[in-house]
Amino acid sequence: HSKDDGRNGYEIFKFEMKKSAEKRLGMELLLRKAVFNDELVLHYQPKVGGDTGRPVGMEALIRWKRKDLGLISPAEFIQVAEETGIIVEIGEWVLREACTQCKKWHDEGMPLISISVNISAVQFYKQKLEKTIEEILRETGLEAQFLELELTESILMKQPEEAAETLRNLKALGVKISIDDFGKGFSSLSYLKHFPIDTIKIDKSFIFDCDIDKANQAIILAVITLAHNLELNVVAEGVEEAPQLMYLQSLQCDIVQGYYFSRPLEKKKAGEYLQQYFLQK
Ligand code: C2E
Ligand code: MG
Ligand code: MG
Ligand code: MG
Repeated sequence: HSKDDGRNGYEIFKFEMKKSAEKRLGMELLLRKAVFNDELVLHYQPKVGGDTGRPVGMEALIRWKRKDLGLISPAEFIQVAEETGIIVEIGEWVLREACTQCKKWHDEGMPLISISVNISAVQFYKQKLEKTIEEILRETGLEAQFLELELTESILMKQPEEAAETLRNLKALGVKISIDDFGKGFSSLSYLKHFPIDTIKIDKSFIFDCDIDKANQAIILAVITLAHNLELNVVAEGVEEAPQLMYLQSLQCDIVQGYYFSRPLEKKKAGEYLQQYFLQK
């Protein structure tokens, strides 16, 4: 009996594996077509000065626009894209598109707006990310100081030595480095002094109730104090309501971002959002 059960269990396991492998392959093919058919789009979410309320930059956030299904969020396809390696191609497209758009905004009279781009682990550790970025900056004409790369702690801790070298090369180009989702992982703080980073972005899970939650207030205060003592900028993501903004302002948080100011916007709307501040005031 037990032998039969075991074999049946194995068959079922294999069947499940095959199903998910097929699903993955299907997804990979769909993603490849998406790149080829221009089904990927970037939306842009404003980043705003904590004291001024004026936009200082935009974060590029990818969406997959499917004729049949509408907009698909990155949560649903970035992981498969990473596992299949197609994220490298997608990530390069994102960088080129985002830099092109930022340069356009500069040319339209908003010369100080920066663009933030999320980078995946696979893309970061692929050989020659620096080369790709250098090329894209040259092609698009965007000044390096206006491109900010958002990396998570876990990416950097995967292979710290290699990460440090890549970061040094990126810094040599003049681009900015931001740690996304800060505080969400379990990594040590010592890397903050070893890696050449510019900005810490506090994870939104600490922000959403920071007007009332004492523990989150303590964490945010500690992170902002630490960052400022290390001469790093601080961004708070996920600011949804005025009371959270007021708490962050009371701690001199440099930059704020979230639905309170704006949801991610398609590029035309994003341009209009910026123009409202730069051309009419
Ligand atoms: P992230 O970089 O941490 O981006 C923040 C996410 O929070 C975005 O979700 C944004 O739309 C959402 N958000 C912004 N403000 C608020 C708010 O006030 N409240 C709440 N609840 N959420 C807010 P989105 O666009 O679905 O992106 C999810 C994640 O997907 C991103 O997290 C990032 O890790 C990844 N991602 C997005 N675009 C790209 C890309 O081009 N390349 C790579 N590798 N990853 C990307
Ligand atoms: Mg981000
Ligand atoms: Mg984040
Ligand atoms: Mg994230």
